[in-house]
Amino acid sequence: MLRDDLQLIRKRLEAAENIAIFAHLMPDGDSVGSVLALGWALEDAGKKVQYIAQDPIPERYQFLFQFIPGGKNPFIPEPVGADCYVTPDISSADRAGAFFQEHPEIPVDICIDHHVSNQGVGKLNWIVPESPAACEVLNAILPELGLSFSKRISSALLCGIITDTNSFSNSNVCASSLRAAADLIDKGADIFYINHLAYKEHTIQEMDFWRVGMTNMKIDDGLAWSVITKAEREAMGIITTDDPGFVNYMGNTSGVKVSVLFIELDELTTKISWRSLPGYNVAEVAVCFDGGGHKAASGATVRGQRMTDLIPAVLARTKEMITRSSEQK
Ligand code: 5GP
Ligand code: MN
Repeated sequence: MLRDDLQLIRKRLEAAENIAIFAHLMPDGDSVGSVLALGWALEDAGKKVQYIAQDPIPERYQFLFQFIPGGKNPFIPEPVGADCYVTPDISSADRAGAFFQEHPEIPVDICIDHHVSNQGVGKLNWIVPESPAACEVLNAILPELGLSFSKRISSALLCGIITDTNSFSNSNVCASSLRAAADLIDKGADIFYINHLAYKEHTIQEMDFWRVGMTNMKIDDGLAWSVITKAEREAMGIITTDDPGFVNYMGNTSGVKVSVLFIELDELTTKISWRSLPGYNVAEVAVCFDGGGHKAASGATVRGQRMTDLIPAVLARTKEMITRSSEQK
């Protein structure tokens, strides 16, 4: 990746008039933050922007909509008549939803990302795998793209950095993340407010999710794992499919190297999340199940198998990685 690539991305954006920016499936704070920040910066530069998300935007990130005149959710499921397609925080085109599979003639023009598993989703790519958040990548390159900051852009970027770093506590957080955050605070982002709304605050339903997750949790030789079935989600009245941070919490148990959470979405679809301590690469396990992500945080969505049949295979692969990595230490 050359610095020149940024100039090509800048030229491509300057040439475009109607830009579609995609959130990923089950959007997280980094996805929502990077889409809104880039979109707002491009709108400030006079572009028409379409905000695309196939899945609903979780309520905890909707405080960012207050920065939009009228406060309305700007996301729509599919773009209409765009001339440039951008995917921030997206490691493979299918993570944007069905759109690029259903329209093979439409390419991803620009991908800005931080996933180690990203092979180059776009015609033009800016991928910084050592960066803990796509929002941090965007924060660093916005000036080189000829785009400016504002209070709302800074707020969206800080939302992504806070949520993807678990509020500056992950192993990949470095001085640059803290400098980026400090700059964003200087530019108007309210760190307490964003941290509270996007990261810390939880609903009673989310507490229920944790309670069931803890009840089902098993710990075995450095591996903690748990399951939330569809029936359990329905009994709790949970309609969203995301994990409100439970896999991170399990991973913080003493002696645990890797945590895995299985969420049954339907009879033949399971969402898997992995978290790990340094020295244990869960991305390599996630890739075996057609997923991806980062060394310390990865995910996969497995279709066509019952969760009960899938679990032993996933645990075996994960344990094999733990044993091999422990031996290398
Ligand atoms: P989470 O466990 O929070 O859903 O995701 C952790 C990391 O794994 C994120 O960086 C996310 O991009 C990646 N990830 C989650 N689910 C999937 C998936 O289904 N496919 C791929 N390729 N990556 C995923
Ligand atoms: Mn991210």
